[in-house]
Amino acid sequence: IIEIKGITRNFPLGSEIVKVLKGIDLNINKGEYVALMGPSGSGKSTLMNILGCLDTPTGGNYILNGKDVSRMADDELAAIRNKEIGFVFQTFNLMPRTTALDNVALPMVYAGYKKPERNARATEVLTQVGLQDRMDHKPNQLSGGQRQRVAVARALVNHPSIILADEPTGNLDSKTSVEIMKLFGEIHANGNTVILVTHEEDIAAYAHRVIRLRDGIIESDNVNPNPHK
Ligand code: ATP
Ligand code: MG
Repeated sequence: IIEIKGITRNFPLGSEIVKVLKGIDLNINKGEYVALMGPSGSGKSTLMNILGCLDTPTGGNYILNGKDVSRMADDELAAIRNKEIGFVFQTFNLMPRTTALDNVALPMVYAGYKKPERNARATEVLTQVGLQDRMDHKPNQLSGGQRQRVAVARALVNHPSIILADEPTGNLDSKTSVEIMKLFGEIHANGNTVILVTHEEDIAAYAHRVIRLRDGIIESDNVNPNPHK
């Protein structure tokens, strides 16, 4: 589903160029459950943004579902992102003055669905994440864990082939983190490909494969023989 060959990503910084990703080769198959780890600054978010079609590489190729998206124009990339990718952020990134239902339905507006269809599907995914009785709440009327559930529901709403999550439990206490990881486990069991970034070994232990980045290259890539459930 994901084929990456020799990906680099440079950022201009004043008169210098910072080389953040220094040649990443990576294949991820449909239905895998991957944790991406590594020290702060090693390039995890930079790689996730490329995987999620929020950014494109400086060099190398990214083939997503058989299509090379490495040099795609922004609007075409945005269309692919909206269809293929569900992205969950550490800080939830919800619209503050908008109900849970409308937050979740928003990606369907971009995808061109009509309101009855949007509301039906948003209700379905909010029920899936256990928030059927919180649909009319705004983000500030929800707990951190509930906000992250809304963000997960929003990521699922367009039936993406890949769910990406950059430190999804980074702003949650340990009990709430476990609940969110159980939710990712269910999403994976439903057949989704799940890739998440974490600093915590306890969180990475839920994944079936653990990739470690260091200084913009893959340091290790191991199967987890006994993933947490
Ligand atoms: P953390 O664990 O702290 O989230 P990370 O592994 O996700 O770290 P990245 O956010 O990918 O790290 O950043 C890697 C490096 O790239 C950092 O040194 C950062 O300063 C640099 N970097 C990221 N984005 C940009 C940008 N837009 N312009 C310049 N430098 C950038
Ligand atoms: Mg990061």
